[in-house]
Amino acid sequence: MEDFAELLDCAREARAAAYAPYSGFAVGAALQAASGQVFCGCNVENASYGLTVCAERVALFAAVAAGVREFAAVAVVADSPEPATPCGACRQVLYEFAPDLQVILANLQGRQKKMRLRELLPEAFDNFTSRLTSSKCSTGKRQMPEK
Ligand SMILES: [Zn+2]
Repeated sequence: MEDFAELLDCAREARAAAYAPYSGFAVGAALQAASGQVFCGCNVENASYGLTVCAERVALFAAVAAGVREFAAVAVVADSPEPATPCGACRQVLYEFAPDLQVILANLQGRQKKMRLRELLPEAFDNFTSRLTSSKCSTGKRQMPEK
């Protein structure tokens, strides 16, 4: 088993920066690019609740903003009895870039779970539009307006 101790340390460190005054549930994530570069994220909550962004997406968006789009693994650390799994939204957003991403989850007591993103998000929504070969819809009766 590959040792993800360093990546988990990064996630634990990132967790310390979490802004979670509403839930009190601080989460840290460390996303390792295929190149080995690591991008960290923490959850950032908001008074509106719905605008809260999870640690996993903060890390991913930081990586994409830096021009990185290929990833090998993500470590997520939270203070929970069992290692906390990423929410559905984060699973889908991570899947966009790395369906086979290695996911390592841990709590502060060192309990760990390791799995592939595909296992966490079976039957994910995929980018179907990139596979369309025609601008016609399936009936062939309607076309996109000419420009
Ligand atoms: Zn999430």
